[in-house]
Amino acid sequence: MNTLQMANTPDYDALLTLFDQYHTFALSTHIHPDGDAIGSELGLYFFLTRLGKSVKIFNTDVVPPNYRFLPLWEGIEGAHSVGTYRPEVLIVLDASTLERIGKGLSKTLLPIHSLVNIDHHATAEAFGDLNLIIPTASSTSEIVYKLIKHHESPICKACALCLYTGLMFDTGCFRHSNTTAETHQIAAELIGIGDFTPDEVYRNVYEQVPVAKMHLLSEVLRTLEITDDGKIASVYATQAMFRKTGTTADAVEGVVNQIQAIAGVEVALCVSEMTDRSTKVSLRSQEYVDVSQLAAEFQGGGHARAAGCRIAMPYPLAIAALVQASQRYIDPDHFRYGDCQKD
Ligand code: 5GP
Ligand code: MN
Repeated sequence: MNTLQMANTPDYDALLTLFDQYHTFALSTHIHPDGDAIGSELGLYFFLTRLGKSVKIFNTDVVPPNYRFLPLWEGIEGAHSVGTYRPEVLIVLDASTLERIGKGLSKTLLPIHSLVNIDHHATAEAFGDLNLIIPTASSTSEIVYKLIKHHESPICKACALCLYTGLMFDTGCFRHSNTTAETHQIAAELIGIGDFTPDEVYRNVYEQVPVAKMHLLSEVLRTLEITDDGKIASVYATQAMFRKTGTTADAVEGVVNQIQAIAGVEVALCVSEMTDRSTKVSLRSQEYVDVSQLAAEFQGGGHARAAGCRIAMPYPLAIAALVQASQRYIDPDHFRYGDCQKD
């Protein structure tokens, strides 16, 4: 093995050694947690508790209702519960940066011995004492799966359900470009272990949509604008829309994927006006634009095809800046399937 390959070899052993050394662990993940964030936290929780460890999970934001079918989700505590508790080891999952676990939590949840960072974001910062960052992994849940396999431990039924949910969510139900033969193999193994069916997990995650969210969706879709070349599409959600439909910015999740599906569109933007008038941005690309780079221009990050950022500007200015920046990434000569579908 050459040096480069060695540098790229994920160091599961270093983390497993840490598991041998310590007894108390805390886990956390990013604000507005999604299926991979919660799935990977709970998956790792089940593994660590089977190793006899004392484990607590602290998240800034509550578990969204569509993930409340996952075992032990009620055990996830809020930032206010930290108090004077200090774990020996803090493991941050799927977060990209330490600050993304929430400003309060990143200052109060302090490990005595070691900070561990497990992530698959291309733009992830190596903020931990130990960093297990694998950008080729479909999801943080996949990394947790591989860690357990590396330990040659069995995966329990509850853990299988949590990891499958994370894998399913982050691959967009096995549709996105991060889906590989291996992802399907892991998913198949988890389905074989667990007491669940894929359709049941899908229905829990995606088919519990509150009607208020549909009303918001109809408002947001009406704002659709597409650049003259048909390559960049944007929508926005305002505080007025949230008030009118009785929703919050969380309800915008997933809308950007619908915009990205428009024939011919390469970059899709969905922006939300936040209560402090700053703008939360979701970015997607269809084939070749690296939106993690685009997001990084605005101090955000993510993956090549799905990224995000927060911009300290009112939303109309943020959209203008984002569209202008996106244009630099568009290759006018790039042929894509959608180009012959537009008419
Ligand atoms: P979404 O658009 O679904 O909220 O996020 C898409 C991807 O971008 C996720 O992988 C998420 O972690 C990342 N992302 C979203 N917002 C931010 C942000 O403000 N900062 C960073 N670093 N990544 C983000
Ligand atoms: Mn993830």
